[in-house]
Amino acid sequence: MSYRTEEVAYVQTAQPAASVQAAQQQRSTAEYRALDAAHHIHPFSDMGSLNRSGSRVIVKAQGVYLWDSDDNKIIDGMAGLWCVNVGYGRKELADAAYRQMQELPFYNTFFKTTHPPVIELSALLAELAPEPFNHFFYCNSGSEGNDTVLRIVHQYWATQGKHSKKFVISRKNGYHGSTIAGGTLGGMGYMHEQMPSKVENIVHIDQPYFFGEAQGNLTPEEFALARAQQLEAKILEIGADNVAAFIGEPFQGAGGVIFPASTYWPEIQRICSKYDILLVADEVIGGFGRTGEWFAHQHFGFEPDLITLAKGLTSGYVPMGAVGLHDRVAKAIIENGDFNHGLTYSGHPVAAAVAIANLKLLRDEKIVERVKTDTGPYFQKKLRDTFANHPIIGEISGAGLVAGLQLAEDPKARKRFANGGEVGTICRDFCFNGNLIMRATGDRMLLSPPLVINKLEIDEIVSKAKKAVDATAQQLGIS
Ligand SMILES: *Cc1c(COP(=O)(O)O)cnc(C)c1O
Repeated sequence: MSYRTEEVAYVQTAQPAASVQAAQQQRSTAEYRALDAAHHIHPFSDMGSLNRSGSRVIVKAQGVYLWDSDDNKIIDGMAGLWCVNVGYGRKELADAAYRQMQELPFYNTFFKTTHPPVIELSALLAELAPEPFNHFFYCNSGSEGNDTVLRIVHQYWATQGKHSKKFVISRKNGYHGSTIAGGTLGGMGYMHEQMPSKVENIVHIDQPYFFGEAQGNLTPEEFALARAQQLEAKILEIGADNVAAFIGEPFQGAGGVIFPASTYWPEIQRICSKYDILLVADEVIGGFGRTGEWFAHQHFGFEPDLITLAKGLTSGYVPMGAVGLHDRVAKAIIENGDFNHGLTYSGHPVAAAVAIANLKLLRDEKIVERVKTDTGPYFQKKLRDTFANHPIIGEISGAGLVAGLQLAEDPKARKRFANGGEVGTICRDFCFNGNLIMRATGDRMLLSPPLVINKLEIDEIVSKAKKAVDATAQQLGIS
């Protein structure tokens, strides 16, 4: 494993990191688990039950593989958390961070100052994003990106003198992050229940989830159109003069990799234009190559006014989020006085340097093109062939290198399991034990591997997924 030598050499140049690294590797799995349970609260977790079973300790990674503290080699079907697009262990990104930390580890961009990394990143994003996107605002996460979106939307309508346009329409089972605004925009019931105080003036319409929610004999296209038209009904109910924006993920990621039929987004676009409502695409998962296009709205063929970016922007090597503004929105923000929003680390130089190195890899190694023409189609076909007529798989959704597998009691009748969440957990645990990371959202199994994955590694993921789904069916007594 040649990368190990490289890793050690790199760490030795940075003395403090070397001693921390050594200390980390000296503990046994049991010690790690005990300390983790004693001091660490995990996100989105039942800590009591997690502490009783113990976490898996991930200690290193390379390419599409992870290693845990017991030296198990695990294939990462989720690119970390939908973010490690260029794969693990890319020295170019580590070097960019190291160089930037020595040159200028931090400076702010608040008070009439700027710095080369944030300038270069903005110019590069303008080059890579579709033509009308030439301006970018930075933050540290997707959640903050969507908070920023709300600030821009309200500022935009204020500059237009339309102060009554306050409502933002979002979707049930959408995911827009976990700040208060992100959680309110999102349509995850369990997050709403936990937050008695929410952001005002946010309302939801139904999601375009054909397998789970289509009634009668509607085709997927008819169903998607009907779900898009709920937006029009909601606008008419609230009054177009009161509606500021609609926000959606081009495909729902955390909600289960739900891909709307081709009729959905053009209809949403038509409605937003008709009633003069800003259209926001949350590209936090879809951006930077996931579907085989640079941005998922290009895959679905629509033109948003704002795009939220994070995750793949830095391939997760360091935190960074951003909002891209369409020229017409940017113009209004730029020409109308103060925009009163910012974060200490807006445009952080180290994050920006890493983002630049990451985007150059995606561009120069033609990683996005490969997803579109080669590995993406291969992955989709392999999944569809492998699970065709499987007794508990009802649908495969996705494009490029993202997919959702719908677990179902009766696939042909589109009948879901009554205890779908439990079935998903059973399947997820079989994956985990088989050294495959595949996520479960309720009764949908999700895959979103690093974009650098090769066909052999895709074969490994799909065959491990098949074993896990087969084992799940067997445990349920279905064959
Ligand atoms: C992950 C995600 C977010 C939130 O990003 P964080 O960096 O976790 O705050 C927002 N929107 C979408 C679509 C996401 O998948």
